[in-house]
Amino acid sequence: MQIYQIPLVPGPVSVPEAVRAAYAIDYPSADLEEEFFALYDRCAQKLQSVLGASTQVTIQTGEGMLALWGALKSVVKPGDRVLAVATGLFGYGIGEMAQQLGATVEVVGFPFDAIADPQAVWEAAHRFRPKLVTAVHCETPSGTLNPLAELGQICREVDALFYVDFVASGGGAPVEVDRCAIDLGLLGSQKVLSLPPDLAMVTVSDRAWEVIAAVGYAGYDALAPWRTGPAHKYLPYTHNWGALAALEISLDRLLTEGLEQVYQRHATVAAACRHALTEMGVRLFPAQEAFNSPTVTAAYVPANWTWRDLDRALRAHGMAVGGNYGDLAGRVFRIGHMGSQADPALVARGMEVLRRVLS
Ligand SMILES: *Cc1c(COP(=O)(O)O)cnc(C)c1O
Repeated sequence: MQIYQIPLVPGPVSVPEAVRAAYAIDYPSADLEEEFFALYDRCAQKLQSVLGASTQVTIQTGEGMLALWGALKSVVKPGDRVLAVATGLFGYGIGEMAQQLGATVEVVGFPFDAIADPQAVWEAAHRFRPKLVTAVHCETPSGTLNPLAELGQICREVDALFYVDFVASGGGAPVEVDRCAIDLGLLGSQKVLSLPPDLAMVTVSDRAWEVIAAVGYAGYDALAPWRTGPAHKYLPYTHNWGALAALEISLDRLLTEGLEQVYQRHATVAAACRHALTEMGVRLFPAQEAFNSPTVTAAYVPANWTWRDLDRALRAHGMAVGGNYGDLAGRVFRIGHMGSQADPALVARGMEVLRRVLS
């Protein structure tokens, strides 16, 4: 196995040693110990602080996709109307997932190098009257960050639940669940939190809990048992104590640094990354700085290079970046500077390698 000295893949990100250490302990059975439930509660509270959420936060085993599927299945029945706001692979993909569940889906679609236009969403929402509106904060494959507050407001106007995938931004950019009126906010452990892909976290509003109770979905990924399960010390399966312990370490690191400082660190690293790429003549995707996410930077594969060759050349220098999928495959690559990788020195070393490889 090759260990990359310059890990810049946009998730799963490099796991810091202090976080990894939590997995080395031989924990007792999570089902039986008071101490585990106290840990769960502390993690949920710290997640509320990081996410600006006064709503409950559930912590399930799994990773980002479990949060996406579990929340969707918990509130959508066949025939329900779902409006999917899509500006990239995940946004369109969530619309397809809802369709696979039998929902009647309308997509408010935008190009991958754009962000959502609230006016278009307003028109679609008022005409279509959905039960659920889905959106993605950071579209990781395109390196973009969507506005949330305006969309949340629209959801309240049409009395729809607002479902937001902030898997790749939560902790690295303000998500502000309360202010943005997010009913279901989805997070995974392998992005900014810099854990292995072990946990799926969902902020669940009271409005969402009511819909969850009415839908009555049962399954491994169902949200329903997490409403009262932790308080009653009765979980639907054996939880991952090591992952929860690692989560608390990661959240403490964010809160100790201070959220404003953490967001500033991400913004600064992202700006430095964009600046270095532009200086070397690598074209950003998209070109508008206002659309770019502070957690991941996407750029066109330079002319005279194939993605295959570029990837191979970077790996030969101990550097791993992200490729792409669908229409962007082979054309756009990505530098992940979230969580442990939002490190100015690491990104500077990465840019130095890229400069050497391209010249
Ligand atoms: C990473 C990510 C997920 C989870 O996807 P995995 O491929 O399972 O890691 C979901 N949504 C977004 C926007 C992501 O970046």
